[in-house]
Amino acid sequence: MPSIFTRILQNELPASFVHRDEVVAAFLDIQPLTPGHTLVVPVREVASLSDLPPEILARVTALGQEIGLAIRATDPSVTGINWLLCDGPDAGQEVPHIHLHVIPRRKGDGLRFGGKGSKTERADLDDWAARIETCLKDQMAK
Ligand code: AMP
Repeated sequence: MPSIFTRILQNELPASFVHRDEVVAAFLDIQPLTPGHTLVVPVREVASLSDLPPEILARVTALGQEIGLAIRATDPSVTGINWLLCDGPDAGQEVPHIHLHVIPRRKGDGLRFGGKGSKTERADLDDWAARIETCLKDQMAK
């Protein structure tokens, strides 16, 4: 049974993409912990970090870095970024397709890890995705 992220990558389920290529993709988290919360995933479905080839992990982290820059460029209120990667159910991994969370932080946002994000309208996710995607394209073209 393919993971929910594989189904997104196969266009069976909707997502608000900021980037996709043959190795890695990134789209908005459906329940963002903060506005702009983005997930970076390898296209090849791998549940555990241990099974992810290092060269693909490098692509995931490089894209995570670019997305952090694009989020900061699109929203000056973002003054920090948290990365989160949950490897295994006991580490809080719910979707068995390894992914890097890129979580924008703003002064006084009050975020504490361990909670759930709130369900967000697709239009809001699409709006964020379009803004990040535009900055990302400019950056990656340089
Ligand atoms: P984790 O607990 O690290 O496995 O995180 C899974 C993340 O996937 C959660 O933050 C969910 O909100 C997010 N998620 C689940 N389903 C979807 C979906 N259909 N589209 C986007 N994000 C999703």
